Amino acid sequence: MMDEEMIHQRGLLQDLTFSGVEAGVVAAGLRPAHAKTVWRALHRDLVGAWSEVPDFSPATRGWLAGQELDFPGQAVEVVSSDGWTRKFLLRLADGREIETVLMGFTGRHTVCLSSQVGCAMGCVFCATGQGGFTRHLRPGEIVAQVRHARRALRALGVAGPRNLVLMGMGEPLHNYEAVMTALEIITDTRGFNIGPAGISISTVGIVPGIIRLADERRPYNLAVSLHGADDTERSALVPVNRRWPLADLMTACRYYGQATGRRIFFEWTLVAGKNDTPETARRLIELLRGLDAHINLIPLNPTQGFGGAATHAEAVIAFKDVIRAAGFPCTVRQRRGIDVAAGCGQLQATASRLAAAL
Ligand code: SF4
Repeated sequence: MMDEEMIHQRGLLQDLTFSGVEAGVVAAGLRPAHAKTVWRALHRDLVGAWSEVPDFSPATRGWLAGQELDFPGQAVEVVSSDGWTRKFLLRLADGREIETVLMGFTGRHTVCLSSQVGCAMGCVFCATGQGGFTRHLRPGEIVAQVRHARRALRALGVAGPRNLVLMGMGEPLHNYEAVMTALEIITDTRGFNIGPAGISISTVGIVPGIIRLADERRPYNLAVSLHGADDTERSALVPVNRRWPLADLMTACRYYGQATGRRIFFEWTLVAGKNDTPETARRLIELLRGLDAHINLIPLNPTQGFGGAATHAEAVIAFKDVIRAAGFPCTVRQRRGIDVAAGCGQLQATASRLAAAL
């Protein structure tokens, strides 16, 4: 296994935004215009090796000879029985593994990206949280997941993906710098060209990260995983609530809403008997009062480490009706890829488990 520090210090071109690549090109004594050729090869044509590009100048080719490319390999792929969801297990240079999920909807594709190997947040219903934290992903490792999905679609003659959600393994705002750099690369119109309006960052409630997103006016959608309408209820499901309790979280959300003028999406995993009564829905409404909010309800997906059960369909509708009656838009998340453990909270990245699902 390669030393982790070494990987982080390698300074791969794939980790850089366009201006970083341009600076590297100029520092090598090349004309800045060459940065565009390199960028297109990497992020638009999605080459796997520099040798695949015929039109580099000899000087550029000479410089690139010292620039290693490092793309995670696909260890396993599983496809849901309805064919709409593909889950890729990708192996990183240090042997660690992450999962990326490609979801097909009518006329579009969405990719669910991982931002860390494992996760430190420990949400009790989440397979990633149950496994603990290993390390942050580099920007290039986040971008590589989009590249992998785009190549998979290209092989089918399909364009896309146009939508990304950072809701895979890891807490994106715990790896803020790398995630923002990756998104800058992904939204660059000279390469992947995925519009920021199609990108959603999900957080379990890292208050300083939410404030920073607001202060930096990041143009992405924000989804906050709430799951509980009071501190006792929420802390039981989301331990990070003890660090940033609901009052602090909602203050940060209000600040974000005022600073950006954006609607916030609130995610609510419904666990039978824990947070799924009409009374809880009413407390949720009080919490959100005055905010431009959209509530996404997610009936619990099964994981081995949590004994909770999904809310019954009728109770889901009753919960939704209370929220809608208060004037908030509320939708129930389409369940996708549950048979291959690709649903919310199910990502775990173990090749053996995935292989067993084949
Ligand atoms: S739900 Fe998200 S934040 Fe919570 S443990 Fe899982 S991956 Fe981490």
